[in-house]
Amino acid sequence: MRVAVVGGGMAGLAAAYELATSGAEVVVLEGSDRIGGKLRLGEVGGLTLDLGAESILARRPEGLDLVHGVGLDDRVVHPETITASIWTHGTLRAMPPTVMGIPADAAALAASGIAEMPSPRILPVPDEDVSVADFVTERLGRDVLDRLVEPLLGGVYAGHTDQLSLRATTPQIAALGEDLITAAAEHRAAATATGPVFAGLVGGVAQLPAVVAATPGIEARVDATVRAVTRTADGWRLSVGPTTDVEQLDVDAVVVAAPAPAAARLLAQEAPEAAFALAAIDYASMAIITYVFDDAEVPEGSGFLVPPVDGTFIKAATVSSNKWAWVAATGRTVIRTSVGRAGETTLLQHDDGHLATRALADLRDAFGGLPEPTDWVVQRWGGGLPQYDVGHLDRVETVERSVAGVQGLEVCGAAYRGVGIPAVIASGRAAARRLLDAGTLDS
Ligand SMILES: Cc1cc2nc3c(=O)[nH]c(=O)nc-3n(C[C@H](O)[C@H](O)[C@H](O)COP(=O)(O)OP(=O)(O)OC[C@H]3O[C@@H](n4cnc5c(N)ncnc54)[C@H](O)[C@@H]3O)c2cc1C
Repeated sequence: MRVAVVGGGMAGLAAAYELATSGAEVVVLEGSDRIGGKLRLGEVGGLTLDLGAESILARRPEGLDLVHGVGLDDRVVHPETITASIWTHGTLRAMPPTVMGIPADAAALAASGIAEMPSPRILPVPDEDVSVADFVTERLGRDVLDRLVEPLLGGVYAGHTDQLSLRATTPQIAALGEDLITAAAEHRAAATATGPVFAGLVGGVAQLPAVVAATPGIEARVDATVRAVTRTADGWRLSVGPTTDVEQLDVDAVVVAAPAPAAARLLAQEAPEAAFALAAIDYASMAIITYVFDDAEVPEGSGFLVPPVDGTFIKAATVSSNKWAWVAATGRTVIRTSVGRAGETTLLQHDDGHLATRALADLRDAFGGLPEPTDWVVQRWGGGLPQYDVGHLDRVETVERSVAGVQGLEVCGAAYRGVGIPAVIASGRAAARRLLDAGTLDS
């Protein structure tokens, strides 16, 4: 039985892996000229580095399970340091313990000088979805929101807390209940016992897509944009390739693992309700700028986040050569910064040189000077991260209900229930399992 997976990012590849290892014949159709989606390796100053996603949450099993399944165990590493700072009020300040920015220790927060917190208000968690900003500000005040929660969420979603959904983006904050600070302290105490939070791969996490795609039973095709997905009497027909030379591909089932705008277009005919809901999901664009220095003095720690209220150009910096031993072993200093948040449409219209110069100026301010880099690379991520705005989970339920009513069709990816690598892998594998369990592929 033959299944087509539309989109060769981690979600689509995880779906393909689940299907192929269960005996299906899978063709992954990737529109761009390379598989991997938001995972990408590139060369900077002679080093091969991750230019997109660079770490895997190890507290969820799905990412490392797949790494294990494809035999990359021997490359798994954990960060040398995860001590991050907040760059605010003119200096780098060690981040006090938090749960997604909710302080777990009021005294440590006060000592950090990062944010002022009024007496926390004990309030019930509302049943309906609210924005992260409304929830946090009402309980802990605006400064905690602006200088802790906002930069942390900005790092994950590149969004704005006054739009982001509490239930979809920070269920762990909602789960803290009424007494946020006490519950955050308990949560932190329990979490420290359970091992490393993050993992990476020696040589970069972006090695994973190609290794997954090499699984027997998977054929991965690039430059294969899917333009239409239609039902036939006994399966599905896909229109693939350039408009001037469209190929028709007949398969038994389809997994659409493309981002929401493309998925919306592809589902418009066969699952119009899902298409409508998907079309409402916005994306944030950003760029990752990676610098390599022959020799630079940088403070210890994995890097820093910046509160948007401080008006800097960069929103975060990771000192990769502090964070990963395999990067440090090159003897160079590697720093990556990210710029761009949801709605900042003009910032990324500047050319690469402008972005790299302005981001470097911020880095020099934060670190108190840096030499000239040996090399830098700007990697743009147009439509990089979906925005889970208030009401997102209702939209996702609409999509899921609509797609569930169509035999042999599934969707997966970062647009739905989590943007991180383990979350999208889980989404892909679950989509594949639903097809397998429905018996679509048995006949
Ligand atoms: C800069 C950046 C850094 C990140 N860092 C981390 C990190 O460190 N850790 C982490 O866990 N997560 C990180 N993330 C998030 C995570 O990498 C992504 O959410 C995840 O990889 C998305 O996977 P996906 O398969 O859902 O989508 P994508 O990776 O977007 O893959 C979708 C694929 O579908 C293809 N496609 C689209 N339309 C069509 C079509 N019509 N036909 C065929 N193909 C099509 C696209 O070309 C793309 O390759 C980061 C994201 C970004 C942008």
